[in-house]
Amino acid sequence: MKIGEKIQSADWKNEKHVPVIEAPDSVTPGEWVEVRVGLSKAIEHPNTTEHHIRWIKVMFTPDDDKFVYDLGMFTFNAHGEHAAGPNEGPVHTRDQAVFQFKTSKPGIIHAVAYCNIHGLWESSKRIEV
Ligand code: FE
Repeated sequence: MKIGEKIQSADWKNEKHVPVIEAPDSVTPGEWVEVRVGLSKAIEHPNTTEHHIRWIKVMFTPDDDKFVYDLGMFTFNAHGEHAAGPNEGPVHTRDQAVFQFKTSKPGIIHAVAYCNIHGLWESSKRIEV
């Protein structure tokens, strides 16, 4: 069994675990590209001590490149934990991240999100240069 077999995918409009990638369809070479990745765009994912999104990893595969490039790892670490007990805490982080990158080649942005009880979910978005 390969890890890829455990990465699920679906339409984010119907499945709350799929990361949504918002970025331009086309950019100019070397232009800084702002990318937003996050869940909960169509359906809010739970954000409790017992059930939450832990992280989203974002990668880029340029056309005709054998390898994938790691763009970033965004972790969401507060989910209502408190000394008094689960969900008693005042602080939560939400499953959203914004960053910038640039590329001289077109390719595909990949995002993988991890839910602490429902595993790995992926999506992708093509960028033309
Ligand atoms: Fe979940």
